[in-house]
Amino acid sequence: MSRPKLRKVNRAKRKEESRNAQERMAMQASLMMEHPTECCVCKEPFERTQETVKTWQVTVIQEKKVVRLTCPSCWTLLTEELKRRKVEVINEY
Ligand SMILES: [Zn+2]
Repeated sequence: MSRPKLRKVNRAKRKEESRNAQERMAMQASLMMEHPTECCVCKEPFERTQETVKTWQVTVIQEKKVVRLTCPSCWTLLTEELKRRKVEVINEY
């Protein structure tokens, strides 16, 4: 009787793992869909080019399932402001 039991457990575990993977993928997909199209500070529209992809800052807040997009100039102001306040960017965002 121990063999079928073991197999059952394994199958349940595998099922859960694949479910978690699916949830992760679904969450990532929804994050992509909710990807902002403008700067979260100055509302400058984001146009996806090789240049903007490199210079604009994307911040993912996992627990809030939020994606923030910040243009380079706002990002500079933001990081300087946070530095002045001695707040870590990662904690703040
Ligand atoms: Zn901006």
